[in-house]
Amino acid sequence: MQDAFVQSRAWSYLHVVLVLFSFRFFPIWLSLLADITSASNIAFLIIDVQNCFLSGGSLAVNEGDDVIPIINDIRCKYETQFSLVVLSQDWHCSDHISFASQHPGSSPLQVIQLYYGQNKTLCQLEAACDVKYSVNQTLWPDHCVINTTSANFGGNLTRKTSDRVIRKGYNCKVDSYSAFFDNGGFEHTELHSLLQSSGIEVVFVAGLASDYCVYYTSVDAVNLGKFVKWIITYHKCNVNDYAYMAIYAFT
Ligand SMILES: [Zn+2]
Repeated sequence: MQDAFVQSRAWSYLHVVLVLFSFRFFPIWLSLLADITSASNIAFLIIDVQNCFLSGGSLAVNEGDDVIPIINDIRCKYETQFSLVVLSQDWHCSDHISFASQHPGSSPLQVIQLYYGQNKTLCQLEAACDVKYSVNQTLWPDHCVINTTSANFGGNLTRKTSDRVIRKGYNCKVDSYSAFFDNGGFEHTELHSLLQSSGIEVVFVAGLASDYCVYYTSVDAVNLGKFVKWIITYHKCNVNDYAYMAIYAFT
């Protein structure tokens, strides 16, 4: 993830310090969080903690269930520090373009190229289309289908009536890792305007998975810039341990 961040546009104008804390040092990490929560107008973004990405799900993140008590602990301890809590929800059509099942002869994790025309509609056949955009698409098992238990939030995840939910990936023809934009950058969700209207200056990001939806949400948050001071996410660092990655992005 660090390498990917170095490659991102964000690196060019933000000073980013990566701090890794192992699971056994978690209380230290919490005390650090206490220091940084002196800032005002903080939003806590909880990304895609849904059954499809949890144990038993069709696209389960390895040991991803471990993020739930961490997120719950953060909410328990720092709830009053957050002006806004937002949960993102992957929300796909049953025939979503990202599903390997929709591409005969393909298999999950295979990467294909999708082509879009001038009006950002998917080209069914590249040769019969005036291609304006191309998007790499990793194919996934069917997951997080609209109105199924797969798309529900994890049952143990703390939720409150004041939480806001941002759905993404509901365009059947384009995938969406980030909670801000789809993968083609064609359309945006209401997240950015929600943060702006709420006067958010600081964003914490946690959830699943650190290499896809948390990562791309974080990069977009940094690139959107003015309200981002730092980001926190979750990362499995090796086969024996977990790490919690705190990313301080000073604008
Ligand atoms: Zn998805």
